[in-house]
Amino acid sequence: MKEYIVIISIDFDDTYTKDPEFWDEVCKLAIQKKHTVYCVSARPEKHMPKVRETVGAIIGGDSCFGTGLQPKREWMKNKNIEIDIWIDDTPDAIVRDHYSQVIKK
Ligand SMILES: [Mg+2]
Repeated sequence: MKEYIVIISIDFDDTYTKDPEFWDEVCKLAIQKKHTVYCVSARPEKHMPKVRETVGAIIGGDSCFGTGLQPKREWMKNKNIEIDIWIDDTPDAIVRDHYSQVIKK
């Protein structure tokens, strides 16, 4: 069986934070299997330290990104990173401008 490197994104708020111990184990296993794990949050940069202190301690602080409410997929594409698998409680925020629409309502 061919083994692929899988590029995974895990969301922070209401995804990682729902069970950090569980996701830490998932991240460790993924890294052990030579996959790549990023944390892609919609948080603004000023609220990213908490992310880097927690999941960032497992995956590396440089692998944690805050899009500042921008759609995540396009934001990561602009960093030349194509995510294979998104783990996110708000999938709408990956593909479209979800948060500004929520804020407008
Ligand atoms: Mg979330």
